[in-house]
Amino acid sequence: VSTSIGISVFPEDGQDAESLVKHAHTAMYQAKARGRGCIQFFAPEMNRRATERHELEKDLRTAIAQDQLSLYFQPQIAPGTGQIIGVEALLRWHHPQKGLIPPARFIPVAEDSGHLMVSIGNWVIEKACAKARAWLDAGHPAVRISVNVSIAQLRDEAFPDYVEERLQHYRLPAGLFQIELTESIIMSDIEGAAERVRKIKNMGIHIAIDDFGTGYSSLSYLKDLPIHELKIDQSFVHNILTDLNSAAIVQAIIRMAQSLKLRVIAEGVENQATMDFLAENECEGVQGYYFSEPITPAAFEAQFFG
Ligand code: C2E
Ligand code: MG
Ligand code: MG
Repeated sequence: VSTSIGISVFPEDGQDAESLVKHAHTAMYQAKARGRGCIQFFAPEMNRRATERHELEKDLRTAIAQDQLSLYFQPQIAPGTGQIIGVEALLRWHHPQKGLIPPARFIPVAEDSGHLMVSIGNWVIEKACAKARAWLDAGHPAVRISVNVSIAQLRDEAFPDYVEERLQHYRLPAGLFQIELTESIIMSDIEGAAERVRKIKNMGIHIAIDDFGTGYSSLSYLKDLPIHELKIDQSFVHNILTDLNSAAIVQAIIRMAQSLKLRVIAEGVENQATMDFLAENECEGVQGYYFSEPITPAAFEAQFFG
């Protein structure tokens, strides 16, 4: 059993027992969000943030039905040949009043209510499969399409069956589909998660580790889990040219991936010099603004299948 404590103080945080307890409660949720076993004092902006999140969640519940979500696509390129070797689907929410809301802001809100994230995640898989099918039908070269998967989806027992069923529905070869999981998802001890990942792998779907190097430092899962690709986190890639340690870490990850016979992709490549460094070090794939930001399907088709 672990304890999270929220504290509110009379009289600053409330004049009566009811509001003091309410604010202590809000602080307690903050303490939980910071990780278990924390103590947190109440601060007025917590109320504002809680209200904002609540509003976001309410709006997100109708976002799918109101057609406010869309998928953008970002290419992955082989640095040697410049050929496109894959594409990552990234979720966008066009809020009718607030404009474009980045996934970093609304994914955590959806995850808080697990069910909402499952609906959104399923929508992403559906749309990505449909797009991949449309590209094949149009005679474009087959590229592997990668989608990000949330911990909430992996918690769902029906997840592997859902993916399999969608692939079959769109007659999409499993080898053209990849899911991206972060290290923290892999390391979380959700019951059955590792089994579900294996089941997905056994269908022929590829598995990538996203943001590699920033999660838990346990490497044991690399030998136990069926992984195809490591995606080196942007934080290392951004500093390749200025920080010797980042450069050394990137080189080490590339070597390790080669030894383990895994594909390795560097994320967040923003300039030619970074690309050259990665090419010299035989990084298999690069992804980043240098080639393209995530763009709409129409823009992607025009630019990369044109
Ligand atoms: P991620 O999967 O690591 O995606 C890469 C993020 O880096 C994307 O941000 C992309 O736009 C950005 N990026 C790509 N190249 C560069 C670059 O050269 N420089 C910089 N500074 N950034 C670059 P985005 O689209 O805002 O997504 C953020 C995160 O939200 C994703 O990180 C992923 O964890 C999550 N996410 C996005 N779409 C989905 C989704 O459909 N499902 C789930 N569960 N998570 C998603
Ligand atoms: Mg990703
Ligand atoms: Mg990433």
